[in-house]
Amino acid sequence: MLDPSTSSGKRTDLLRVTYAEMAGAQPEGLWFGPGRVNLIGEHTDYNDGFVLPFALEKKAVVAAGRREDDLLVMYSLELQERVEIPLSGLAPGTGGWSGYLAGVVWALQMSGHPVGSATLVLSSDVPLGAGLSSSAAIECAVVAAMCDLYHLDIEPMDRAKIARLAENSYVGAPTGLLDQAASTLCQEDSGFFLDCRSLEGVHVPLPMAEQGFEMLVLDTKTPHSHVDGEYGARRQSCEEAAAILGIPALRDITDLDDALSRLEDDVMRKRVRHVVTENSRTLEAYEVARDGRLADLAPLLDASHASMRDDYEITVDTVDLAVDTARGAGALGARMTGGGFGGCIIALCHTGDGEGIAQQIAEAFAAAGHRTPEWFTATPAPGAGRLA
Ligand code: ADP
Ligand code: MG
Repeated sequence: MLDPSTSSGKRTDLLRVTYAEMAGAQPEGLWFGPGRVNLIGEHTDYNDGFVLPFALEKKAVVAAGRREDDLLVMYSLELQERVEIPLSGLAPGTGGWSGYLAGVVWALQMSGHPVGSATLVLSSDVPLGAGLSSSAAIECAVVAAMCDLYHLDIEPMDRAKIARLAENSYVGAPTGLLDQAASTLCQEDSGFFLDCRSLEGVHVPLPMAEQGFEMLVLDTKTPHSHVDGEYGARRQSCEEAAAILGIPALRDITDLDDALSRLEDDVMRKRVRHVVTENSRTLEAYEVARDGRLADLAPLLDASHASMRDDYEITVDTVDLAVDTARGAGALGARMTGGGFGGCIIALCHTGDGEGIAQQIAEAFAAAGHRTPEWFTATPAPGAGRLA
């Protein structure tokens, strides 16, 4: 069997062949949803704050077409697994990986959109569970496919909300809108600055190559443990602090010192300080990018990492080692990206430096007895749509 990751041409060929075998016809089209990296704005989304992601060239692709019967037939090239569900049998909480596809069809139905049956053959080169949002990539690809197949005129932000509904209510993962908004709305060579309260977003140029930069994305391959509990604890701490301060969300703090003086718990104070300073760093990153000063992102990335390490306490040894080594090896700035306790780091580098920096991180990992990391350099890519 062809390795789906070998090249995008081979991958689309394989999708078409597999689709034809399953449906007895050519697909009506191919649609994609990209993975994403969060440039800055970590754990700010559920505090009604700001995030600034960009989409990756790594993406989920679905070959899709309508069917005569009432079935949803789904296949993953990576898992080599086929799942079939009657449309009338869609029920939240069912279906492992296929829930990310079936959930979208269910969420479209729940939102009042008339969708019918489909064959959906999936292949994705977004690494699973690395914090690059392989789940939203699938959901947003399927939303794009179903909208075109069934001629649904749904605004991009509403598409993102439907994808999120699938993840929250069908799969059962309580995430914010960041991943789906990024995968749906991002544009080439741009970041998407999103206000998670108003859901207003602005595209901001990130012409990294033009300015002599590249972004290294390195997966530390750290196994996650106790992540759900830690995430829940952080959220709870933020909600409690907001309640004590008498504000709807930590986003509403205008005087940090005053807020901190009104909180008694040391840990809670640290959590609040991260959220408030991260929000202002994200706003500043937006302004820096808007003004075309990409080098000035570097100190913001560094400060964000320090805040996640010392105040929010969501980094781990591998992640800190990767960030420190990246800086020592010539990265301009670096931070962990994603929810924490492992996952990926990003490092802003001069063009051509990313590979050497990654090699040095790999050596440091080997010396420390950690797993071998994986990496690539990222260019901001477009959001979900039709591929062919
Ligand atoms: P992340 O979004 O950070 O990658 P999640 O846990 O949210 O991690 O989503 C990962 C899940 O998405 C996987 O466990 C799997 O169910 C599904 N998934 C991702 N890629 C594929 C794929 N190529 N084929 C089938 N399922 C996939
Ligand atoms: Mg996910």
